[in-house]
Amino acid sequence: MRKTLYIIGLSVFVFSCTSQKNVKTTSYRPKTSTIQPKTTVKPGVDKSKSQVTNERGVEFFTTNIADPAKNDNTISYGSLVSAKPAGYKVVKTYFPAIAQNFRQRYLILHYTALPDDKSITVLTQQAVSAHYLVNNSGDNEIYQLVDENKRSYHAGVSAWRADKNLNDTSIGIEIVNSGYTADSTGKKIFVSFNDDQIKKVAALAKDIITRYQIPATNVLAHSDIAPTRKQDPGPLFPWKKLYDEYQIGMWYDESAKQSFYDAAQIDFAAKYNEPSFVFVIQTALQKFGYAVEPSGKWDDATKSTIEALQYHFRPQNYDGIMDAETWAILQALNQKYPTK
Ligand SMILES: [Zn+2]
Repeated sequence: MRKTLYIIGLSVFVFSCTSQKNVKTTSYRPKTSTIQPKTTVKPGVDKSKSQVTNERGVEFFTTNIADPAKNDNTISYGSLVSAKPAGYKVVKTYFPAIAQNFRQRYLILHYTALPDDKSITVLTQQAVSAHYLVNNSGDNEIYQLVDENKRSYHAGVSAWRADKNLNDTSIGIEIVNSGYTADSTGKKIFVSFNDDQIKKVAALAKDIITRYQIPATNVLAHSDIAPTRKQDPGPLFPWKKLYDEYQIGMWYDESAKQSFYDAAQIDFAAKYNEPSFVFVIQTALQKFGYAVEPSGKWDDATKSTIEALQYHFRPQNYDGIMDAETWAILQALNQKYPTK
């Protein structure tokens, strides 16, 4: 089963790479189209109805049954998991609906804050899990712990833009990393990721994002979707490198940031504590996606949210204090990735 899914996934991935930019106009032909479907269409039935192919016991539609013009993530021929009601036949070929999309709409990245062996034990034997675990062993293996069609328990209480409880709609990747320790001043000191791990994470993320057409705005850190509770994967996770080298996730345009920075510096310090200015910044954080309530005060939740933004987009200084550069970056991000 796993091998079959991998083969199908890979074929869709290869296929998607070449057609991704023309989602709305391309007519899709599956790689499996040369295989004769085992389920035949009855004589007299509209031949435009989708057919089904069977590979190693798993059934797939042979044409794209979704409508990519109406959904964000629909490049799928869809594996079929069906009921087998006693005494009745479930017919899959006649009426596949175009109004459908994947449930997998987010990719969330974590660190385990544990070494390899303990990460495996905790994520397989306890009340938390993730779909994938990227070890720190220097080999070429990535562990799958949960089927992609099932929920794993990695996000907890979480929110981004209009969505909540992201376990329902996400794939979770855990990366083995020790997390942080606090120094004598209370500053969190994080442990860096090695290059082998980052290459694995990038290849895995790219595959998942491509197969489910996950938008850049939905590729997030655990700290982005739960900023008051979580720090992972922390400021040493190389989001910019993933964006620059693999086109994964979000990053701001430097020129836009510079323009906002020039404007922000003029009176930033003077209005820093004005409730109306704090409110504007909180509203901008909320608009970008963070679940923060605009209060007009620099409250703890707002500071944690600013820290999360800094982990992701301004990792050189993650003190949780809004400064002119962080404010410029937030505005540049909102300009580039507006809420639909
Ligand atoms: Zn996490």
